[in-house]
Amino acid sequence: MNSSLIGKIEKAQRYEHEPERIAITNLKADFRGEHDIYHLALDGNHWSCSCAFYAGYGTCSHVMAAQRILSPMLSIESRSESPLPVGSRESAS
Ligand SMILES: [Zn+2]
Repeated sequence: MNSSLIGKIEKAQRYEHEPERIAITNLKADFRGEHDIYHLALDGNHWSCSCAFYAGYGTCSHVMAAQRILSPMLSIESRSESPLPVGSRESAS
């Protein structure tokens, strides 16, 4: 193996322990829940999920779990998107 590639592998092994170097700005993922598979997405700082709870509350266990798992790689805003107050979805247009 050539020495410059060995250097890159060593650097990657160092970076592996510094996840905050990666800033996730866009993401699509399938979340295997207890009853179904849900489609999670992060677009900029905005999360969304295909589950029924998210549709009503603006957050859900799937989004919250992803925020916890990916926390060091998320912007401050996307780490904890606060749920919308109940009823605000209907009034906000
Ligand atoms: Zn969900």
